[in-house]
Amino acid sequence: MDAALAVLKEKFGYDSFRPGQDTAVSRVLHGENTLVIMPTGGGKSLCYQIPAMLLDGLTVVVSPLIALMKDQVDALNDNDIPATFINSTLDYQDADERLSMAARGEVKLLYVAPERLAMSGFQAELADLNVQVLAIDEAHCISQWGHDFRPSYLALQEVAKSLPSHPTVVALTATATERVADDICERLDIPAEGRINTGFARENLSFQVVRDQDKDKFLIDYLRLNPDQSGIVYAATRKEVDRLDALLTKKHLPVTKYHAGLSEEERSQNQEDFLFDRKPVMIATNAFGMGIDKSNVRFVIHDQVPADLESYYQEAGRAGRDGLPSEAILLFSQGDLHIRRFFIDQSEGDEDYKQREYQKLQVMNQYANTGECLQAYILAYFGQESVPCQRCSNCLDQREAVDVTTDAQKVLSCVVRMRERFGKGLVAQVLGGSANQRIRELHLQDLPTYGIMASMPQKRITEFIDFLVASEYLEALGGQYPILHVTASGAAVLRGEEKVMRKQAIQARAAVPVDDAL
Ligand code: ADP
Repeated sequence: MDAALAVLKEKFGYDSFRPGQDTAVSRVLHGENTLVIMPTGGGKSLCYQIPAMLLDGLTVVVSPLIALMKDQVDALNDNDIPATFINSTLDYQDADERLSMAARGEVKLLYVAPERLAMSGFQAELADLNVQVLAIDEAHCISQWGHDFRPSYLALQEVAKSLPSHPTVVALTATATERVADDICERLDIPAEGRINTGFARENLSFQVVRDQDKDKFLIDYLRLNPDQSGIVYAATRKEVDRLDALLTKKHLPVTKYHAGLSEEERSQNQEDFLFDRKPVMIATNAFGMGIDKSNVRFVIHDQVPADLESYYQEAGRAGRDGLPSEAILLFSQGDLHIRRFFIDQSEGDEDYKQREYQKLQVMNQYANTGECLQAYILAYFGQESVPCQRCSNCLDQREAVDVTTDAQKVLSCVVRMRERFGKGLVAQVLGGSANQRIRELHLQDLPTYGIMASMPQKRITEFIDFLVASEYLEALGGQYPILHVTASGAAVLRGEEKVMRKQAIQARAAVPVDDAL
């Protein structure tokens, strides 16, 4: 490893490896297939760039980030590292010349897009080269369980096996649930001991969920309070991006926008305005971000709920790549879930796919409703245990935890009385004493729990049920119309063995006891 350390110092100017990098480099140097899971900004690139410098053969780097390739290669060339790229921006002759350079051993790293690698002609050309390492960036794209599955990635499985040089595979990602990680390893022949996981935690990010507020007002206030800071505001639709852009521009805030409906020219102009901080705030759909390497993004605000927690973490993770404290804020309203459901309904996926998407959305809903540490919630989703971060809006929530056991018992017993056969909407209606037709048809008005929460607005009852699901007293099973079930801890609450506490707005009360004041 002395040689690797020397390259780290001489070529990259760093004194020591970050956690996981040394193991990854050493495995790749020994020809062992490896999966590297590191948070954004963790230093994944060096895990293949350093071996590339030390090995005789060629390292092919597969990356979906065509827009970034040139910059990455330029940066390497600036450090005297011979690298080049081949993608759709080059004409045939250029691409051919670059392949010849690789064949002559004049470059150590060759960056290509997965679509290119999937082409049989290109594979044949690679077969003539001594490809020693195949580095697969954004490796979660190979898994259908992931949030960003790309069919072109599936070809990599074959490429890795069929190249006559038998390259060592190093797959890298910042977002992979256990299931996705298993899938990557299976497809790319990575052994169990070949997984390097430094965890997902981003110590410099503080997560916040802002519920039920006037979002436009929040955004305007936030941008005014944080002038000159760079940030990204994500919205779910192009229309909403256009609306926010118009609104914030009218308020003289330095915003620009990005979505797939804009012309190529407009998109690259706006992107540059953002990158060079001429307009430091980008309003965008999720079409924006992949391949944007802007280190000083101080906040990422989601104006509408994203499709799943993986996408959320990846998008939010674009804040603070420079390691400085940054914020990831989700502006949540129940109504936004409808937009997402609509997207799922309209999607072309089969029924299984839709059910999976509904379930993922349900997790997102729980994230927005949990009282737990938000970071811990996300990490648990990725299969990592952690302690409360003490930075997120839940950890810093100063409100008093109120005993809501009685209300919880009302909900739980209503779910039991309804024989655990219905979803949140109907349960909330029964608790609220709604008199609609469905309730009459099913004779639910005869249940003893009918109307026992009538003093609470329907919306609050629904939110309270979401809270009970997020706190795992209830389980919501099934895709599009999840059915509520009482969990073991829910049963303990019903038996009076467990208390349910919830942070709520502190009730107004006299600062001085009335008697004393007299
Ligand atoms: P990732 O791909 O995991 O998001 P990068 O590979 O782009 O992260 O690295 C993020 C930043 O950390 C880069 O600026 C890189 O130069 C820096 N970096 C990587 N490894 C080290 C190290 N061992 N010491 C100091 N800085 C490092």
